[in-house]
Amino acid sequence: IVHHPWVEFVKLAATYSKVNLGQGFPDFPAPDFLTEAFTRALGGGNHMLHQYTRAFGHPPLVKVLAQFFEKLLGRDVDPMTNVMVTVGAYQALFCCFQALVDEGDEVIIIEPFFDCYEPMVKMAGGTPVFVPLRPNPPKDGKLMSSADWQLDPAELASKFSERTKAIVLNSPNNPLGKVFSRGELGLIAELCVKHDVLCISDEVYEWLVYDGKQHIRIASLQGMWDRTVIIGSAGKTFSATGWKVGWVVGPNRLLQHLRTVHQNSVYHCATIAQEAVAQGFQRELMLYGKPESYFVQLPKELQQKRDWLVQSLDGVGMKPIIPEGTYFLVADISQFKSDVPEVPNSDEPYDYRFAKWMVKNKGLAAIPLSAFYSEAHKNNYTNFIRFCFAKVRYMANRTFVPTMAAVKGNGIWLRPTDQTCGIF
Ligand code: PMP
Ligand code: GLN
Repeated sequence: IVHHPWVEFVKLAATYSKVNLGQGFPDFPAPDFLTEAFTRALGGGNHMLHQYTRAFGHPPLVKVLAQFFEKLLGRDVDPMTNVMVTVGAYQALFCCFQALVDEGDEVIIIEPFFDCYEPMVKMAGGTPVFVPLRPNPPKDGKLMSSADWQLDPAELASKFSERTKAIVLNSPNNPLGKVFSRGELGLIAELCVKHDVLCISDEVYEWLVYDGKQHIRIASLQGMWDRTVIIGSAGKTFSATGWKVGWVVGPNRLLQHLRTVHQNSVYHCATIAQEAVAQGFQRELMLYGKPESYFVQLPKELQQKRDWLVQSLDGVGMKPIIPEGTYFLVADISQFKSDVPEVPNSDEPYDYRFAKWMVKNKGLAAIPLSAFYSEAHKNNYTNFIRFCFAKVRYMANRTFVPTMAAVKGNGIWLRPTDQTCGIF
């Protein structure tokens, strides 16, 4: 049996949680301009929007994505050959691995990583090669930041061989929230060019970056456009994860192979959803960089939620690692071993045990960090859990509670002042 973290923890959360900070999705509505675009597409005059559209992406969507990425990358992007629309970023990833990885190829994956990369590489016949981000705790007693988790340059270089086909980069990174710096990306780019390696760049959290940091696209670095596929998601970009609209942007020499996989598997994704996302991007293109832009507003709101959760966790001794991006936050649970003791010689990693205990006994769902590590390295990272802070709310009575607790009128947890939750 292969344990699947999402199947297992989504079920546990559904059964026991009062407050679900596990699986990553927002619980606030998608923006009006987006849902209105969907309604218009659904009921408007164009009944052809209920039929098939172009296999590789509904023309209005690939056109506006091309315009958008021309702006972001500062280069020409052709809507028909450099862009492909997929069923969420999940299918974009699947197409990349199926199309670009052959039997016996090695693919470098940076740990911790979004869990599906490993099985997807294996399904394509490839061999995953893992390289960890290593934590360097600050010496001044300050809280750790996701920026304190870094690659060791020599260790990274040692993973590149003549069998390396690609490296998977995920910046901003799920689960840590790390936003790779220009220097770190430069190092990866240099190695890719030197060893003629492709970069599968999962950038689904590209707009969720905090503290004035900038998301840098590795495809814009010297020598990288031609060897990079950029993956994005309307689910994350417009807070509508159920729509399952994603995309790939990259050079035709790579995308032509992705198109072969796509046209012979899913063919295309829902026309109406693509039409509405196209209109969402048209609005954002017009408002680019302006205060009314959703891509400007959303990170501001999320940064506030991040800070509330950081403050709450810090107040109760669960040390948060402050994320620079995404809506995830990893916290250190090692202070809680007297409440939830370790079981010697257990097959189950401590963080799994803790996360299960927490959802069953405290109604609070989170995801064990070791779910984001390979089998070989899991056991080094069992003292952390990941929270999704998109669902955190501020309450007037000065407690920080997620909406679900507020709705149900119970489950108030993490209350630094009177420690309502018992263990905390
Ligand atoms: N990549 C990462 C890093 C993610 O966190 C997610 C979120 N589920 C995905 C890809 C998949 O995105 P989508 O929901 O658009 O399929
Ligand atoms: N990307 C989301 C997360 O990391 C959801 C993943 C999933 O449900 N498969 O929580």
